[in-house]
Amino acid sequence: MKKIASHLLEEKARIKNDWPLRDAGGLPLLFSPLLAGMPGLTHAFTTRLGGQSLEPLQWFNLGRHWPSEQSRRDATANRSRLCRALSLDFSRLVVPGQVHSTRIAWVSEPESLPDVDAVASSLTDTPILLHYADCVPVIIFEQKTAAVCVVHAGWRGTAGGIVARAVRAISATLDAEPENMVAAVGPAIGDCCYPVGEDVARELAASAGGAERLIRRGDGRLFPDLKALNALQLLDSGVGAVDVCSFCTACRTDLFYSHRASGGKTGRQGAIACLRPLI
Ligand SMILES: [Zn+2]
Repeated sequence: MKKIASHLLEEKARIKNDWPLRDAGGLPLLFSPLLAGMPGLTHAFTTRLGGQSLEPLQWFNLGRHWPSEQSRRDATANRSRLCRALSLDFSRLVVPGQVHSTRIAWVSEPESLPDVDAVASSLTDTPILLHYADCVPVIIFEQKTAAVCVVHAGWRGTAGGIVARAVRAISATLDAEPENMVAAVGPAIGDCCYPVGEDVARELAASAGGAERLIRRGDGRLFPDLKALNALQLLDSGVGAVDVCSFCTACRTDLFYSHRASGGKTGRQGAIACLRPLI
């Protein structure tokens, strides 16, 4: 019985949905259809389109990782433009340092955060932004008491179960039920473009029941589906519904930054989420 349940979750975790690019205040953005229908939440996933960052970060880079003052100024201008497009308060924007950990911070004031890879909050009007270039962006929304968590899951975070930890952290802090949570898994590298070594595959296979079936074997190599692995952890944690974006960041470098496809010299797209007061 348990085996059948795990098999069903894994089939559900594989499902990808096509998200249309939409214009928001002159900026092309992606929205999860599932999260877009949630009252009390504003969210978006960005692409590389819309800003003025220079090569090799063209055009809408949100990272401040590149060693030039100009690129950092452009990234700050792009972050500000993103907030404006979504009618969010840039002065309250929370952006953590990201270090491929499984650490989660609970934010109770807009503040500069230490190095964490997930930020949760139940504060309204406090946007949270994390940035990515192939790694998996995840937004988790708890509908009943209203809390949001933005997660950065690369292979290490995925292997360490960062999204399952985030669900547990929200449940514990708010005494909330995972079934009242919904989650969106944004554009990230697909199993079409992500061969890994045996050691990485072994760690990912141990991240959830049935995870090994989300690692494809081809040409004698192993190709994990990182988006599906995170979706599986969310579903396995009891999250009510999960919406996974079909875009592969390495296949679509016209739309996204890809660490793999660029050899590491590239910008960062973002996932942003903000709770709104219910009127
Ligand atoms: Zn691909």
